[in-house]
Amino acid sequence: MSVSASRPRSERLDRISSIPFFAVHLAALGALFVGFHWYYPVVAIGLYYLRMFGVTAGFHRYFSHRSYKTSRGFQFLLALLGTTAAQKGVLWWAAHHRDHHKFSDQPEDLHSPRQRGFWWSHVGWILCAKNNRTKTERIGDFAKYPELRWLNKYHLVPPVALATLLFLVGGWGLLVWGFFVSTVLLWHGTFTINSLSHVFGSRRYQTSDDSKNNFLLALITLGEGWHNNHHFYMSTANQGWFWWEIDGSYYALKLLSWVGLVRDLRTPPKHIRDAHRPVAPAVAAPLAPPPKPLALPAAPIVFDPAA
Ligand SMILES: [Zn+2]
Ligand SMILES: [Zn+2]
Repeated sequence: MSVSASRPRSERLDRISSIPFFAVHLAALGALFVGFHWYYPVVAIGLYYLRMFGVTAGFHRYFSHRSYKTSRGFQFLLALLGTTAAQKGVLWWAAHHRDHHKFSDQPEDLHSPRQRGFWWSHVGWILCAKNNRTKTERIGDFAKYPELRWLNKYHLVPPVALATLLFLVGGWGLLVWGFFVSTVLLWHGTFTINSLSHVFGSRRYQTSDDSKNNFLLALITLGEGWHNNHHFYMSTANQGWFWWEIDGSYYALKLLSWVGLVRDLRTPPKHIRDAHRPVAPAVAAPLAPPPKPLALPAAPIVFDPAA
């Protein structure tokens, strides 16, 4: 399926509000015209992964799932960093994501490829008018902070400030590579978790949705590609649960915990992590020895009426 005319108007492409989305893609093509310096792609990739951390460790693992704790100040910094990714506001993002887990791959799921097709799950659900509202009722635990409500409302300020800074520092070249190219890659990298990671990969755990584990997606999203693990048990700060499941966001969170900026990182209990293993058959108890025959008295008992 695709975003088609058969959908209600509120679910069709909103041409006006989607202009910035397509304009940023067009601006990224400016990379063909602004010349080249070796540090352009370095800055683009650096800002890709820095902001991906803001989205995955901040918007996702902290604000959506509360999988670790931090101070109010660092909480704001995480929200600010994630907001520079230009994926709407932190409260909007986390509230919608909580709904994704509540209804994952069921008809009410906001971005299920099983229900609505690949393009809807990748970008369609963002580019229509229907999902613009921040579901504050789903994120009351963070909506109580005025600084987060402000950041959620003025979510365009941080990405515009970042773009302006890049332009002032390095002119058009750094603006195009550091912001536009980097942001387009960052958008589609993030969106793969809503689309591809419910389609391609392996399933270790039996969940009611189609979530998959995918090594490649884990590399480009700092660990979010272990999506089947995550849907099976969503409240952990790590999503790679075995040593070979590379999880860049968790490694960075671990470093931050050593310097005291975050704490209480939740990890899966062993019985959850090993829930996919077939249960070993119970060891059969050794057969009990046959009961001994009753010992009979050596001499028959004789009833003596005279006794
Ligand atoms: Zn999912
Ligand atoms: Zn999640």
